[in-house]
Amino acid sequence: MDIRRSGTTASTTGSPEYFTGQARLETLFEAAAPARAAGVRVTFEPGARTAWHTHPLGQTLLVTAGSGRAQRWGGPVEAIRPGDVVRFGPGEKHWHGAAPDARMTHIAIHEGLDGRVVEWLEPVSEQQYHGSA
Ligand code: MN
Repeated sequence: MDIRRSGTTASTTGSPEYFTGQARLETLFEAAAPARAAGVRVTFEPGARTAWHTHPLGQTLLVTAGSGRAQRWGGPVEAIRPGDVVRFGPGEKHWHGAAPDARMTHIAIHEGLDGRVVEWLEPVSEQQYHGSA
């Protein structure tokens, strides 16, 4: 058993290459091979979001605080809120982030394939973020 005490993990800032606006990432647990699942807590400032991306084995988001937005390629921008569980399938192009006027925190759980958990694509434009693209 290992207990990683709350608040003792260093946080990092999301790279501007992959995030629009400010996002803070905190690794909660990592996979030790042959296990694959890892968990990251991410807090997005209002208006902040990921770039478009995919996960080779999919991803599950547990929304824990605030008010957010998520979208799969070709679908509508969806509001997400605490208690919501959002699942993206393997290779499904999507983004996630905060609402324009509120922070959002989620725990992201994903499994690595050949050491990779994400493939980054283009940024989410303002038009796409506001659902008017
Ligand atoms: Mn994702």
